[in-house]
Amino acid sequence: MWKIGDGTQVNICSDNWVPGGGPLIYSHFLFDELSLSKVSMLINHDGHCWRRDLIELVFNPSTTTSILSIPLSMHGGSDVFYWPGTSDGQYTSKEGYGFLRKLLARDEASSSTTVILAPKFWKKLWASRALPRCKETCWRAISGYLPLKERLFRRRVDVDPSCSFCAAELEDEDHLFLHCPAAKQVWFASQLAVRVDLFSSFKEFWLAAVELDDDDAIATIQATVYALWEARNNICFKQREFVVAGVLRRVSNSMEEAIVRDRDRGPMAALPAKWQKPALGTIKCNFDASFHDRGPSGLGMVARNSDGEVMAAVCSFPITTLSPLLAEVMSMRWTMQLAIDLGFRRVCFETDCLQLFNHWRASREGRSYLSSIIHDCRLLLSAFDSVSVYFVRRTGNTVADFLARNAETYANLVWVEEVPVAAFHLVFSDVMTQLPVGA
Ligand SMILES: [Zn+2]
Repeated sequence: MWKIGDGTQVNICSDNWVPGGGPLIYSHFLFDELSLSKVSMLINHDGHCWRRDLIELVFNPSTTTSILSIPLSMHGGSDVFYWPGTSDGQYTSKEGYGFLRKLLARDEASSSTTVILAPKFWKKLWASRALPRCKETCWRAISGYLPLKERLFRRRVDVDPSCSFCAAELEDEDHLFLHCPAAKQVWFASQLAVRVDLFSSFKEFWLAAVELDDDDAIATIQATVYALWEARNNICFKQREFVVAGVLRRVSNSMEEAIVRDRDRGPMAALPAKWQKPALGTIKCNFDASFHDRGPSGLGMVARNSDGEVMAAVCSFPITTLSPLLAEVMSMRWTMQLAIDLGFRRVCFETDCLQLFNHWRASREGRSYLSSIIHDCRLLLSAFDSVSVYFVRRTGNTVADFLARNAETYANLVWVEEVPVAAFHLVFSDVMTQLPVGA
């Protein structure tokens, strides 16, 4: 796919650049009238943002949402090809091979129904960093051991064999984890942004995933399969509603749980769970994003000094973007810009998103949108005299989390030296936890 930089290389109609496919044009008359050809004509190059009014007039609503959710880099840059399906967007010949294998497997799968998995596919399954329960569910799904309704029905159990999510098709692995509209939404909205309709069976999907040889992607897939299975059970046994954002949150929670578990077992100390005051003269900016698949996201940040006093609190709403991870990295860029505008020179930025923190620390250049926003952030660093980026668990980031979750209510408000009344107790408890025991 094309990743949009300044949009001058990419043709609106004939190139592959809109997530989810397309674009669908609403007004062909306007499209011709304005002689639109390159994507750059849809970008306001002063502010490096999309020309929302124009886009809304020309494209249909789903394409409009997709286009507006593409994050543009502040420095424009040139358009490049990136490889969707890996988090850094890098293409290697290994991945090209995997892609071809996937196409081949699809042809084979359509001619015979069984795909035999070589030992290395099982090895990869168990070697991943995902939680044991995620690996096991994935193994049961591939081996055909999950008690899915279609299977129970065939064994003469008295159940309705239709899908727990959509009730429109039989509930088997291929449908529940791939072809059901509910599953498709989850996969596409996940950080992998996978178009699962390319695969005819769940086994084949797993085969292609292993060929990618990307440990992050494999663990994410396993966590997603588990989260879908859990969501299905919640519908069946707890009468809960299916919400895409809820499933994605479970995926990122279990990824973090897995990382924290590894850390706790490994030589590294447990990750900090409480908010800590910054060093004297340094401002700490905590930031967060709330992601909604059915509506725009909100951003929140709070800046505090070495006494724990609030210097500023800011909300931003609405932000449309593709995934929770992209919302987090956009929150980071926004926070860095705010810190510059507020005149902070010695700053430490703190996130509770471990995936973002790991991408930041890995400092490898990629071609994905995530990489280009991280690159924006790195360029902003030169504005500071001293700067660092920390991770804290969610329990230490409650004020920023509150602001992000309530950004819709507060819209784009800025509080100077205070926070909204409803967040007083969170700021207070952050300061209180600093007191030594017995004080
Ligand atoms: Zn379904």
